[in-house]
Amino acid sequence: MPEAPEVETLRRGLESFAVGRPMGPPRLGRARIFRDMESPEVLQGLLDGAVFSSIRRHGKFLILDISRDDLGESGLVLILHMGMSGQLRASAVCGLQAMRVAHAHLTFCFLDHTEVAFIDPRTFGRVYLDRLADGESLPPTLSHLGPDILLSQHPFAKLRDRAVDSRVWIKKMLLDQCLVAGIGNMYADEVLFGSRIDPRREGRSLSRSEFDSMEATAAEVLNRAVKLGGSSLADRSYRDIDGDLGRFQNEHLAYGREGEPCPRCATEIVRIVSGGRSSFFCPSCQG
Ligand SMILES: [Zn+2]
Repeated sequence: MPEAPEVETLRRGLESFAVGRPMGPPRLGRARIFRDMESPEVLQGLLDGAVFSSIRRHGKFLILDISRDDLGESGLVLILHMGMSGQLRASAVCGLQAMRVAHAHLTFCFLDHTEVAFIDPRTFGRVYLDRLADGESLPPTLSHLGPDILLSQHPFAKLRDRAVDSRVWIKKMLLDQCLVAGIGNMYADEVLFGSRIDPRREGRSLSRSEFDSMEATAAEVLNRAVKLGGSSLADRSYRDIDGDLGRFQNEHLAYGREGEPCPRCATEIVRIVSGGRSSFFCPSCQG
């Protein structure tokens, strides 16, 4: 599943491709990605003649600000979530994309005949409209999310407050998007490895300096991941807007490395499964 670095890579690609480029009506496909909308057909009238004035991201969500001459900055935003395997793909020639790529469920068609398609074979992705309240940067449907892991100065502030008296595993807390937004299974394991913290530790057992260490590690790991265009795993389902694979998977130290020697102490990396999720860690140097 794309996490903050992958979604940020998509955001940057979409920003440089789509912002300010006038659109015609989009092509709509399979309804399941529109399950949060009463009538997705409304997008055809709304986006016809509109531009995206900016492309933002919070956690794993993309926020596309819609602007139209007749509405100005409308406060209307289109929210995209990639789900398990959603992709955005830009194409220079309108129409070719749809013929070439199956599972394009929403295609933004620009007046200069370029397009961007939301492709999602498993349809766990989501697309819906929301509206910003005055002075708010996040729409109501995203206001429950915790601080963004890449944008916030102290992304773990809320997590740390909640952890004080929590017996929940720190790994599980890191995945709670209401506490910190943008971390999934892959980067949680990398952050815990980098901070030498066992994923099974109860939140309340972590010291202040361990939280500081996690914050520093997260900034380092996730920014490096953004620089390398995110992580593409074995299924190669994650690609950037041009269809290129990410490269950070080559620098994973713990995630997906069961049975391999720990890069710090050479003990075998182990995998445990809890709540249907795998955790990879070094049983020796993550205390
Ligand atoms: Zn180790």
